[in-house]
Amino acid sequence: MSLDEHVEGQFYWSAESDHCPHGPEPDGDTEAWDEWSDRHPMSDEGRVCLDAPAGTACVECSTGLIDMVPWGECRERIHVRPRNGMVPNPDAEHQEVPVWTGPLDCLDRECDEYFTEAGDDDPAVKVCSHIREEVSCSCRRLGDGEYGLEPCSIRSS
Ligand SMILES: [Zn+2]
Ligand SMILES: [Zn+2]
Ligand SMILES: [Zn+2]
Ligand SMILES: [Zn+2]
Repeated sequence: MSLDEHVEGQFYWSAESDHCPHGPEPDGDTEAWDEWSDRHPMSDEGRVCLDAPAGTACVECSTGLIDMVPWGECRERIHVRPRNGMVPNPDAEHQEVPVWTGPLDCLDRECDEYFTEAGDDDPAVKVCSHIREEVSCSCRRLGDGEYGLEPCSIRSS
């Protein structure tokens, strides 16, 4: 499986759920129905309500709303977290932020390399070989505490 296939998507609740503020579907072939259908596009799971966002999720890992994997919890994609969980200058607008990039299992010390052959946690392994060190900028902080890797336009100019 390619990591690139994991993309973030906005998920919406079903038009039939209590989250939809619009009430029941109007009769077809009316202006009311045209307006209603504009706000309730068809998806794999039936019509969804664009005014009832359910949050961002990984499109590849989720099978619709029934099994929605939040974007921050996708275990297959590459995540970007501050190294050692520390940001040197959290309040500065444009500061280098050293980051680790890798799958969640590796950032959470759950991949095989963190364990000895006996299955014990191996404190000698600081980071596993799947993790790369990169540098981001404090302006690239995303909502979930992770960072983007696009270069900062301010600091590099
Ligand atoms: Zn609705
Ligand atoms: Zn995923
Ligand atoms: Zn910046
Ligand atoms: Zn690993």
